Amino acid sequence: QSCTASHPSSSADARPRQGGPVQFFYQSPTEARRPTVARGEGIYLWDTTGKRYVDASSGPIAVNIGHGNQRVMQAAMRQMEKVSYASRLFFENDANAQLADLIAQHAGPGLERAFFVSGGSEATEAAMKLARQHAVVRGESSRWKVISRNPSYHGSTLGAVGVSGDFVSEGMYGVMTRIMPKAPAPFSYRIPDGQTAETYAMACADELENIIEQEGPQTVLAFIMEPVGGLATGALVSTEAYCRRVREICTRHGVLLIFDEVMSGVGRTGTFLTSHQFQNVQPDLVTLAKGLASGYTPLGAVLASRSMVEEISSTGGFMHGHTYSSNPLSCAIGVATMQETIDNDLPHNSAVMGEYLREKLLALQTRHEVIGDVRGKGLLMALEIVSDKASKTVFPGGINAISTIVNLAMQRGLLLYSRRTAQGRYGEWLMVAPPLIVTREEIDLITDLIDNTLTAFA
Ligand code: PLP
Repeated sequence: QSCTASHPSSSADARPRQGGPVQFFYQSPTEARRPTVARGEGIYLWDTTGKRYVDASSGPIAVNIGHGNQRVMQAAMRQMEKVSYASRLFFENDANAQLADLIAQHAGPGLERAFFVSGGSEATEAAMKLARQHAVVRGESSRWKVISRNPSYHGSTLGAVGVSGDFVSEGMYGVMTRIMPKAPAPFSYRIPDGQTAETYAMACADELENIIEQEGPQTVLAFIMEPVGGLATGALVSTEAYCRRVREICTRHGVLLIFDEVMSGVGRTGTFLTSHQFQNVQPDLVTLAKGLASGYTPLGAVLASRSMVEEISSTGGFMHGHTYSSNPLSCAIGVATMQETIDNDLPHNSAVMGEYLREKLLALQTRHEVIGDVRGKGLLMALEIVSDKASKTVFPGGINAISTIVNLAMQRGLLLYSRRTAQGRYGEWLMVAPPLIVTREEIDLITDLIDNTLTAFA
């Protein structure tokens, strides 16, 4: 039995087995007995009772091209008719080469090479190992520390947990992973007295430099950050000025800059990569997953420059791989997903619809006392939930505000991805991030449902 799939079904005919479900899972904030999904189309999912849900967060911000895409299904079928799997130890495969070419075209100069894995956590691991191998090949084997931000999320495997700050299971696994330094995330909502969001962001960048100097620059390998944050920060937007200063600091100390675009990449924030929105901010490595295959199959990637890959090639190539690295079926699905993304100019739709969504969410903020902040970029938006707007106070843990809102939304046929940080220390939020195919009318529907849900919560 797999240990990765879900909960007992709540469909009328399927009952949990005696002694509980055979499969086990982390409990979601939604009801313990979740409905069983039956089908999906566009921005909607239906359960086995026929109830419709608006997928307003694209699952965990993954399903960029929407559900039930025919082009992807046909591409998967065509690839399976040819071959589903052949190990990269023995064969090249066309789907892999085609996907790497397509990504390189859209990622642009400095990110000409791609290595494919099965998801975001594996992409984080691969990026850190690639950075380390590159340092060793260059004769800088003293470099091993990967600095990340607090809070942040870069995945759930142990290496990735080590570079995730305020991770939900820190208390449990921190003892096995707490060796990597952390720099503060440049929060824009709750900032220290006497600072503005801009000055605080610059102070956070300067703190990164202090940490590099304290650790000893010759020991620091890389700095990893999300240009627009995901669940860990509730769509925290890192400004261009902050990113530029971070880039300068990393360059000054020979530290590689890794942009985790697992959530923010592939058009989600309005451009193919979020880094394309900044002048003079070229990351050394970029990770992608989620929107890369839009949930149709597990797929992630690490992008690197041609020169970095050539340097490590002199020692026999990247010393890393999984059984499913460069899986032909996943890559064929990735190609079809990329083609849908590009042919329908979904990054542009994300920028345009993202602005419309922001306007509608700001209008909701004027009506609902619990919406403390509206932030994000493109179709990666979040609503920060507070018990008091003036003091920006977080609801006490016992109230379970976020879980209650998520359940009220689900009853109304609205799916929202959400997070309460540990002890509410950094706040709690709802992610509003529909598939990039969303229309104005569908955004009206989503915001009406949020309105209705928050009225019921009040
Ligand atoms: N990095 C970021 C920014 C993410 O949001 C996630 C997942 O939410 C990951 C990495 C890990 O990706 P995965 O869940 O595919 O392993």
